[in-house]
Amino acid sequence: MIGNRPKIVVLGAGYAGMMTTKRLTQQFAPEEADITLVNKHNYHYQTTWLHEVAAGTIDVNRSRIMISDVINTRRVNFVHDTVVKINKEAKTVQLENGEISYDYLVIGLGFEKATFGIPGMEEHAFSIQSVDTSRMIRDHIEYQFARYRNQKNPDPSMLTIVVGGAGFTGIEFLGELAERIPLLCKKYDIPRQDVKIIDVEAMPTILPGFDEELLSYAKESLEYRGIEFKLGTMIKEVKADSVVVGEDEEEIKAGTIVWTGGVQANRIVGESGFELTKGKVNVDATLLAPGHDEVFILGDCAWVMNNETGKPYPPTAQIAIQEADVCAHNIKTMIYGGTLQEFKFDDKGTVASLGGSDAMGTVFDGNKLYGMQAKVMKNVIDDRYLFLLGGPMLVLKKGKFRPF
Ligand code: FAD
Ligand code: NAD
Repeated sequence: MIGNRPKIVVLGAGYAGMMTTKRLTQQFAPEEADITLVNKHNYHYQTTWLHEVAAGTIDVNRSRIMISDVINTRRVNFVHDTVVKINKEAKTVQLENGEISYDYLVIGLGFEKATFGIPGMEEHAFSIQSVDTSRMIRDHIEYQFARYRNQKNPDPSMLTIVVGGAGFTGIEFLGELAERIPLLCKKYDIPRQDVKIIDVEAMPTILPGFDEELLSYAKESLEYRGIEFKLGTMIKEVKADSVVVGEDEEEIKAGTIVWTGGVQANRIVGESGFELTKGKVNVDATLLAPGHDEVFILGDCAWVMNNETGKPYPPTAQIAIQEADVCAHNIKTMIYGGTLQEFKFDDKGTVASLGGSDAMGTVFDGNKLYGMQAKVMKNVIDDRYLFLLGGPMLVLKKGKFRPF
């Protein structure tokens, strides 16, 4: 405590961290609590737009929001630093450039790619994880076009893009590529048929577990725009310029390999001694870490059981944002007394963009949406978050419906 003010430290300025910080500033008067937010960048980014950054269909800066533009840094002590380790027993956080102590800790350090030990994946495949990794994909693809254009007898595989995994990230990325590649072909005077975009998915279907009608719609829309699927085919190995797939170990030569095959919690939580269940911390319904009544874990670092289905909630921004409300409420309750709130997901549906003006998904009570209607809904969802975070000005500045 500082004087008798509790010290609340939030790690990570993603969906969970930003919304928790915002809610804490609304719940506590300045003299009631000391709030610190730690993040490795001085900006917050829209993780849910990174596939667009990676394909080059939106500018990098559209997906970034300066933290000081949406969080009052006179109320919140913003520490621009990288978390190295959490020392639970000492209640301190080790940063690259110092150490801070806490009375209450909120961990919202997000996800990292899960490579499942596939040989060469770590070294040779790109992944859509942050602004920086996404920007590298965009630049690399364009560099391949420039190289192809400027070589006498270019290797055609230079223009082959392999995407590993057809979950939501893979499908949304393919949708953006379907829009971007024709523009690059035009820019570099390269026939569209010289470019191959191949998705390799281990399961016999894209978007395993999703509504059949919607996934057929998505697949047909993408195939129509030149995406090839290799379903029921597992990526076994990744080499510098190829991927080895399937039982017969077919080798596909490719100039760009992007892995979207799964995510796991930021490794810092495991390295800090929190027990992991399938790579995440199994928090209780109040979002507290086991054995630590002062540590909340949210978003993609947390394993939260859905008691109705007996399965954990998936790692989504929608869930991270809702968890933030419960977390801020529970910190206040712990300080002033009362009953802790349990997390219950209010599912507003899932909409996946398919690039351009196409999308598909379900909203509210399972109503299916396709095409432009679904795309408008996707943009509304994106802008709603911006509104919650920074009000109408942020929607006007960064939103999908901005007038300029
Ligand atoms: P994140 O949003 O990942 O934020 C983590 C933060 O921690 C980042 O700001 C990062 O910089 C910071 N950080 C990380 N390590 C450190 C460190 N060592 N020190 C300091 N700071 C650190 N979900 C949906 O609900 N709808 C969608 O449409 C959707 N689309 C998606 C599209 C893509 C391309 C991807 C990749 C994911 C998508 N998701 C979507 C999933 C969603 O983005 C995640 O579930 C969500 O980002 C999790 O929020 P979070 O706050 O836990 O972590
Ligand atoms: P995911 O785990 O949902 O999908 C990964 C896919 O890769 C799976 O289909 C899996 O079968 C496949 N795969 C795994 N190993 C493979 C291998 N060796 N070879 C070939 N295929 C392999 O991961 P994701 O798509 O990154 O999504 C992560 C989370 O983010 C999910 O919860 C998702 O719902 C969420 N998300 C949501 C949206 C949205 O709502 N619009 C968009 C993107 C992501």
